[in-house]
Amino acid sequence: MDGQKVYVENGVLVVPDEPIIPFIRGDGTGPEIMESVRAVIDAAVSKAYGGKRRIHWKEILAGEKALKETGELLPKETIDAIKEHYIAIKGPLTTPVGGGYRSLNVTLRQVLDLYANVRPSRYFPGVPSPLKHPEKVNMVVFRENTEDVYAGIEWKMGSEECERVRRFLVEEMGANIPEDSGIGIKPISKFRSQRLVRKAIEYALKKGYHTLTLMHKGNIMKYTEGAFRDWGYELLRNEYSDKVVFEGEGERTEGKVFVNDRIADNMFQQILLRPDEYGVIATTNLNGDYISDALAALVGGLGLAAGANIGDYHALFEPVHGTAPKYAGKNVINPTAGILSGVMMLEYMGWMEAAKLIEDAIVRTFEQKKVTYDLARHLGIEPLSTTEYTQALIDNL
Ligand code: NAP
Repeated sequence: MDGQKVYVENGVLVVPDEPIIPFIRGDGTGPEIMESVRAVIDAAVSKAYGGKRRIHWKEILAGEKALKETGELLPKETIDAIKEHYIAIKGPLTTPVGGGYRSLNVTLRQVLDLYANVRPSRYFPGVPSPLKHPEKVNMVVFRENTEDVYAGIEWKMGSEECERVRRFLVEEMGANIPEDSGIGIKPISKFRSQRLVRKAIEYALKKGYHTLTLMHKGNIMKYTEGAFRDWGYELLRNEYSDKVVFEGEGERTEGKVFVNDRIADNMFQQILLRPDEYGVIATTNLNGDYISDALAALVGGLGLAAGANIGDYHALFEPVHGTAPKYAGKNVINPTAGILSGVMMLEYMGWMEAAKLIEDAIVRTFEQKKVTYDLARHLGIEPLSTTEYTQALIDNL
């Protein structure tokens, strides 16, 4: 294949001018979305660099297509390809509720140690919102991506393992657990909490966010959620004391990040009532999953919510939403979340000019009231199809 590999040299990620970027089409609406994503990225890169830079896309398989072609849902070659190329992008993959296989998304994040799930929510003018002042929303969630109840340590009610764990907890630890319980474990570790908070503060400093909030449910789960908060503060005090101001110890100061913490339930009302007081939110896995969907709803819904899974060097970009199966093959789905994930990827690659072109094109396209069904239904206008909307974006680059 033409193109060069992205590599790491002296601790720095190096992106050649013609990098190979693996992509996963995904299930349900995934293939339509990824088609649009690649078309818009290619057009923006060509416009920004006039042929000097170009992405060489390499398809890798996961999900239903992988099962059909290889007999496996997540072939080893797919994981190896992301390891080898460092940067990849994916469409959503199906995860059955309750039984069947473990989430492929969760597996990918854990196997590749992509410990920070980064989910920005910002407002694009003209997008319908339930808020009076949605322009005040500009928050980025840093969700811990490898532990918490997502670690997959759980036992089914009635199974032998579950009964063994239950008996241990009841007989040796004095816990009160009814016999007809399923049991799950929530591990939160110091190292993983601190590396997540480090990524979040680095991002806040680099991007000029005024506030970093540690979101947790430490009033109830003291040794997991509460510890996350304590370890976060400890890291910030030890490594960033000259760059931050802690709430209760000083005023907001130009050039420094204001650091506070909020209990998870409170945080949900804060983002509705006082969105402009928040910037970067660092939190545990489950909290982060919940709050990022709530934030997405404030600024246009899941059709606009971008995401990235980032490790020390490796990064896998993907929209927050799932496969939206009822729209599969109908050419109606909103590809913007995927495209904005592509914008995050271009920024991660250092291709800022192409990223900016796409963001500006999205603003222009919304101003022209060219939107897909999800936004059109709130605006009371005729929707564009996925392909028409994609073309409108490309025309607006
Ligand atoms: P979903 O696929 O995100 O869809 C839920 C609803 O959100 C859709 O019915 C649609 O709302 C709206 N929506 C989602 N994506 C949209 C887009 N691009 N444009 C416009 N609207 C969009 O959630 P789900 O139905 O709970 O999950 C379906 C499958 O996806 C499950 O198997 C789940 O496990 C999986 N999933 C995968 C990922 C991932 O790959 N990272 C993430 C989440 C879920 P309306 O019906 O109101 O139009």
